[in-house]
Amino acid sequence: MSPPRLHSTAAKTRPPPSATAVRYVRGVGAARAALLEHMGIHTVEDLLLTLPRRYQDRRHLVKIRDLEGGGQATVAGTIQVCGLVRPRFGRAFFEAIVGDTTGLLKCRWYNAAYLRDQFKVGTRLLLFGKVTRYRGSWIMQHPEYEILDRENDDPSALNVGRIVPVYPLTEQLGQRAMRRIMWNAVETYSGDFHEMLPEATRRRHGLPDIVTAIRQVHFPPDMHAAEAARYRLVFEEFLCIQLVLAARKVQSERFLKGIRHAAAGKLRRRLIDSLHFRLTSAQERVIREINSDMSASHPMHRLLQGDVGSGKTLVAACAILDAVECGSQAAVMSPTEILAAQHARTLAHYLAPMGIKTTLLTGRLPGPERRRRLEDISANRTAVVIGTHALIQEDVRFHRLGLVVIDEQHRFGVAQRARLYEKGSCPDILVMTATPIPRTLAMTVYGDLDISILDEMPPGRRPVVTRLIPHEKLPQAYDFIRREVVGGRQAFIVCPRVEESPLSDLRSVKELATTLSMGPLKGLRLDILHGRMSPEEKDAVMERFRAAEIDVLITTTVVEVGIDIPNASTMLVENAERFGLAQLHQLRGRIGRGPHRSFCILQSRPEMEEAWRRLEVLQKTSDGFRIAEEDLRLRGMGDLLGQEQTGLPALRVGNLLEDQEILRAARQEAFTILEADPHLQNPEYGGLKERARRLYVNRGRYAKVG
Ligand code: ADP
Ligand code: MG
Repeated sequence: MSPPRLHSTAAKTRPPPSATAVRYVRGVGAARAALLEHMGIHTVEDLLLTLPRRYQDRRHLVKIRDLEGGGQATVAGTIQVCGLVRPRFGRAFFEAIVGDTTGLLKCRWYNAAYLRDQFKVGTRLLLFGKVTRYRGSWIMQHPEYEILDRENDDPSALNVGRIVPVYPLTEQLGQRAMRRIMWNAVETYSGDFHEMLPEATRRRHGLPDIVTAIRQVHFPPDMHAAEAARYRLVFEEFLCIQLVLAARKVQSERFLKGIRHAAAGKLRRRLIDSLHFRLTSAQERVIREINSDMSASHPMHRLLQGDVGSGKTLVAACAILDAVECGSQAAVMSPTEILAAQHARTLAHYLAPMGIKTTLLTGRLPGPERRRRLEDISANRTAVVIGTHALIQEDVRFHRLGLVVIDEQHRFGVAQRARLYEKGSCPDILVMTATPIPRTLAMTVYGDLDISILDEMPPGRRPVVTRLIPHEKLPQAYDFIRREVVGGRQAFIVCPRVEESPLSDLRSVKELATTLSMGPLKGLRLDILHGRMSPEEKDAVMERFRAAEIDVLITTTVVEVGIDIPNASTMLVENAERFGLAQLHQLRGRIGRGPHRSFCILQSRPEMEEAWRRLEVLQKTSDGFRIAEEDLRLRGMGDLLGQEQTGLPALRVGNLLEDQEILRAARQEAFTILEADPHLQNPEYGGLKERARRLYVNRGRYAKVG
């Protein structure tokens, strides 16, 4: 039996698939349209870009005599007997005994009484499923089937006799229905897809044309065609995104004039010589990368990734010194005032001995003091300004702002970065993040930046010992914390909720603090920190914790980023399954920053097997990149970064983990294209620009392309 062929013709006046509602597809009524909408499928384009998760090869018919147990097979036969079977034990099922010229096969379906109306003795069926041998009979449980000799108005056997697509589904929409809808959509609309890839690009990468790709990704003649079709569609999606990012990068490199910070590195070397430790080779490499960017005439746009404790701040200090040496000022922006204050302290420690003046600008300075500091900045008496991102929103005037260091970038986002450029002088920009991001994700989220990675920890640091415990072991964990406190150390206890919620088994910070202070941690100095506190209240608590006036800080994740309390040696995270791995890794980075052996205790529930296994990753490794990759695999990237903040368009066909190779190829192609045409002025890029625009607009952002 040969599978039906597609007959599609491009209509002359139809709107494009991206503007055609999915309900116009034959076989999609109001109810199915609603189901599809629920899956995020609104247009015909959405539908046809919903790719099969996998395929099943059902091309070859097997004679019943030749069946082999354990494998999947496609069989054609005629129903000999059929009906509902009610065994004495177990559930009722519908059974059809099907025969071909060589033998008999029992097919069983549970909850399928409706088959009574479809199957009669003599009905010819094509069946696909897993075959087992049981008490001398061949059995298929829940095979997919196609009735062969129905009236001939619908000759297309979509479910057997071909390579069959398997789609991601929602409840109430079965594979068969979905295949039928797809078939109809492909037949009617595939010819309406416009080719967006330039001829040269397709030739360079050996890609099929768009119409072929759309057809064959759903109904491929062979597996090779299916792969080639998917590759092309993923490539196109990645290329759109990479063109946007690469265009930003190429254009800023070619057309933006920055400040050439061709520092000899005198100040930097003085700092390095004054340290009582040696730079790691990763630090040396990254400092070189930054220095080479800063001495170029176009502005630096570099991302510095490094796990907590890898020594990013020191690297930033070196960049600042290069800028200052060339007569520029530098601004350092942090996501919170606590962190800004901490950076101010660290940087003052590094820079003050060289006579370089730093200042902290917070929202809470008294008016006159603030004015004085602003004047010092605009008169160039202060070289380095540290603050929150309010620095770029407010009316801070610099004499010559040459370098901006942004800590924990993902809280800023692309729009704010653009604002910085608007401030005038095209300063060099160094973005620092402690959220390790898998490389391919970084190439996408930060695709307009160059990337430096501190992939080496300073020597002698003992990794935090991490233990996973069930709820019953909490008393021991509290005892452990008590012993640490008696030994002079401090501890964090992290719990996920703030408000009292009697229905929830999660305990709020307050409740937990009360319980602990009356019970297991009685006599210790406890305090709380949570997101509902004002910045002043939070800072006050952190200051007291830093001053060791608090033994155990009970907190939500507001403590997540950058806090440096070397004396804190233990962290207990309750209900750890509520957190992403990357987030837990960040939390864990709050401890192990001092000379003491440090412990991270994660409490969860072994009975939630999947969550428990996920948490075990943290027990095994302290490699932030591996952890982030695992998180990305398990929870998706929105979770890893906060999708709204990444400005990343939602990927429809590509997968950043599985399609790394395609992503690399697409990124390279983007640069090849921009090399020849940096503003994408050639009309053959019109389609790609349009699609890229839609990708980003759908994410609520307008991206300027070309
Ligand atoms: P990050 O900002 O990446 O979390 P920091 O720059 O805060 O890391 O460095 C963490 C600690 O390690 C600081 O106390 C710093 O002085 C120290 N440190 C940085 N680089 C080195 C090094 N090469 N060798 C030893 N200690 C280092
Ligand atoms: Mg730091």
